[in-house]
Amino acid sequence: MSGVAVQIGLRAPSASDWVTGRCWLYCRRENVRVLWIGPLRTPVAEGDLYACGRCIAELMLLAREEERRRDLEELAAPYRCDHRELETRDRETFCRGCGRQIYL
Ligand SMILES: [Zn+2]
Ligand SMILES: [Zn+2]
Repeated sequence: MSGVAVQIGLRAPSASDWVTGRCWLYCRRENVRVLWIGPLRTPVAEGDLYACGRCIAELMLLAREEERRRDLEELAAPYRCDHRELETRDRETFCRGCGRQIYL
């Protein structure tokens, strides 16, 4: 683990949760409509994290992408092969375990 611990918690917003302030996420704009997205805890500072709609959408997209990536990894795991044993046929190299051609 690295030294910086950042926690972000998202909860369902209500209309009154929107305030005018600074976006703490990617765009860093000031005086925009922002939503409280969770407490911010780092070793050096504690506070509240606000973000504009655009950046929250971006964050959600990232989170979903990450989830999908993890799913894919899980799906691929049984098929993953570290090609430990190689064999050569017709001057081409193949993996003995999975049969795939290896380009050296
Ligand atoms: Zn923003
Ligand atoms: Zn293999």
